[in-house]
Amino acid sequence: MHKTKKLSLTMKVLIGMTLGIIVGLTINLLALNTAGSFTNIYIVDGAFHVLGKMFINALKMLVVPLVFFSLICGVCGIGNIKTLGRVGSKSFALYILTTAIAIALAITLATATGIGEGMELHASSEFSTNVAPPLTDVLINIIPTNPVKAMANGDMLPLIFYSILTGISVLMVGRKASSLIEMAEIANEVMMKMVNIVMSVAPYAVFVLIAKAIAELGLDLLGQLAGYVLVLVSALLLHLFVTLMITLKLFSGLSPRIFLAKIRDAQVFAFSTSSSNATIPVTLKTLIERMGVNNSIASFTVPFGATINMDGTAIMQGVATVFIANIYGVDLAITDYIIVILMSVLASIGTAGVPSVGLVMLSMVFAQVGLPIEGIGLVLGVDRLMDMLRTAVNVSGDAAVSSIVAKSENKLDISIYNDPDAGLSSIDQTLHINQTAEMELAATLKKTHEQS
Ligand code: ASP
Repeated sequence: MHKTKKLSLTMKVLIGMTLGIIVGLTINLLALNTAGSFTNIYIVDGAFHVLGKMFINALKMLVVPLVFFSLICGVCGIGNIKTLGRVGSKSFALYILTTAIAIALAITLATATGIGEGMELHASSEFSTNVAPPLTDVLINIIPTNPVKAMANGDMLPLIFYSILTGISVLMVGRKASSLIEMAEIANEVMMKMVNIVMSVAPYAVFVLIAKAIAELGLDLLGQLAGYVLVLVSALLLHLFVTLMITLKLFSGLSPRIFLAKIRDAQVFAFSTSSSNATIPVTLKTLIERMGVNNSIASFTVPFGATINMDGTAIMQGVATVFIANIYGVDLAITDYIIVILMSVLASIGTAGVPSVGLVMLSMVFAQVGLPIEGIGLVLGVDRLMDMLRTAVNVSGDAAVSSIVAKSENKLDISIYNDPDAGLSSIDQTLHINQTAEMELAATLKKTHEQS
């Protein structure tokens, strides 16, 4: 029987994204989204809003159990505490290094172009912000007083800490705990299947998320802040295509071309959800199935990176600081720039990868160098769109560092990495229920039932 080639999920997601941009732009340009209009009530704030939020909830729903079980498996897979420490320190060092380079690049580019000089802008809105937690609190709160609460709140660092400690303890118990390891492995496999189920609706979800964002934002705001947007986008692209790719090639020898082709899925999800945390399931799946990174490394580096590594966000801090300083005519000394770099790196460690957290970090940076906090109001109008872009860069940074660490630990299957079709699945394959497995399960259940 002749079989037509099915479109891969990645392809469908990209089609969803393109259609979302077209529909969103059409709604915006034809001004169909005015308050109280049919399109506004039933489509943009109705169907698009509800379906989009449902999808983001579904992604977030996966994060805690996925991180918990895959980290236990990861720790048991690594098998000894020394290697674990090495993997931890390598990824931490690389995350900090890439973030510091990112912000230095942003400051250089913004200063060289002199954005904001001689510009008279009025704040687009009043801005008040939460404060990012001080570093002392971040350190203390790595250890949860109640792991269940940390899980319920989705607090990533305490969750990572508790899961690693569980994994280490299971290892220390040894043979007696083997069924526990097996259980964690099975639970991890079940979670990965759940990721597949959620991902199967991704093309539609990406469509509604993008269409809603573009319908609401349009592109005209971008024009008003053209200088800021241009420098920011150039710095983001430079970092993604040059800094990260040179780092990848230099430290691992892996092909940047293949990396860029394969990371697209995770980038689209990061772009659509504006959240590195919500993208964790997709980043993990991409690294493990498409790039051949062993779960023992990815399970650790991905959630860790989503929390502490924010290259794109750091770039925004750098560009925004120079921009606002120029607008208000504040002269920043070289020491101020160093403070900006340090603050951004520290702030990215202490804040989670959720939408708009970059603004919170920015207020912290501004307070340190004495820039008026209300200056943030100036860039607020374009921030939603910029958040989408920088989150895609954040996630790419997480994936690049994960690949480097995995390669250096001999935990990257190069044949999977180099195979362009590895891990590509059509939706039918993704949702395939294995009948043999089903029958086996039924037989086992029957046997257990008879025995009892
Ligand atoms: N939304 C970003 C993230 O989740 C953080 C930010 O820049 O606001 O990675």
